[in-house]
Amino acid sequence: MSPMLEVQGACIGYGPIEAVSDVSIRVETGQVVAIVGANGAGKTTLMKAVAGLLPLSAGRVLFEGRDITAMPPHRRVGAGIALSPEGRQVFPDQSVRDNLELGAWSRDLSPCAMEAAIEAQYALFPRLRERQGQMAVTLSGGEQQMLAIARALMGEPRLLLLDEPSLGLAPLVIKEIFGIIRALRARGITVLLVEQMANLALGVADQAYVLETGRVTLSGSGAALLQHPQVRAAYLGAG
Ligand code: ATP
Repeated sequence: MSPMLEVQGACIGYGPIEAVSDVSIRVETGQVVAIVGANGAGKTTLMKAVAGLLPLSAGRVLFEGRDITAMPPHRRVGAGIALSPEGRQVFPDQSVRDNLELGAWSRDLSPCAMEAAIEAQYALFPRLRERQGQMAVTLSGGEQQMLAIARALMGEPRLLLLDEPSLGLAPLVIKEIFGIIRALRARGITVLLVEQMANLALGVADQAYVLETGRVTLSGSGAALLQHPQVRAAYLGAG
C-alpha cells in the first residue's frame, strides 16, 4: 500500500534562496510523523509546500499515491489535507463559532451537518464551546491554537498538517495540545507535525525526521531519535 503522503526529492526556495534541498519524507496512514529542527531549518517551508502554498522547484508530492505536485491549495483541502498554520492565524474579528464554520468551506454542509461538525469539535475542545460567541482575538494563545486545529478539522481531513502548535504557549497548555494530537491519532487522523520542542514531538511521533539547513540529516522512529546522541546533544540539551 502506498503511504498517505510522500515527498520525493523536494527542493523549495524563495528566489535564489533554497530553503529545502532534496528532502524526501513518508507519512504512513494513521501515524504521527514529526519534523524537528532548529529555527530556519526549513520546516515551515516544507509544510507550506505540502499544503500547496509554495511550489517545488524540483521533486514531487504524492498524496494517497496520486501526484499532487501541481494541485492548487484549495483542491488539496478538498482532497483531504488541512493545515493548521504556524502562528495560528485564526480570523481575529470573527467569533469562535464563525471561525469553525469558515473551516468547513470546502464541504458544502447542510445546516444539520454543520451543527454536527461543530459539536464534534466542541467535544474534542470543550473550552471552545464555552467561548463560542467570543471574538477569536480575545482568546488566550492556547485557546487560539485549539481553535486553529479545530478549524482545520472542520474540513474533515485525513491528513492534518500541524505547524508549531506549541509556539508561545505555557507548558501546561502545550501538554494539553499534545494530548489532543494523541487523541486525533486514536481517531484515525494522520498527522504531520512540525515542532521546535523536539522532546515532545519525538515523544508523540511514530516516525520523525531531523531537518538541518534544508536537508534531512536523521530519520527513524520517534523513540529511536529521542535516544540518538546527536539529537540529544543538539535538540534536547543533553551531552
Ligand atoms: P521556524 O521554526 O523559525 O519557522 P523553519 O524551520 O520553519 O523555522 P522556515 O520558516 O521554513 O524555517 O525557513 C527556512 C529558510 O527560508 C530560512 O533561512 C528563512 O530565512 C527562509 N525564508 C523563509 N520564508 C522566506 C521568505 N518569504 N522569503 C525569503 N526567505 C524565506
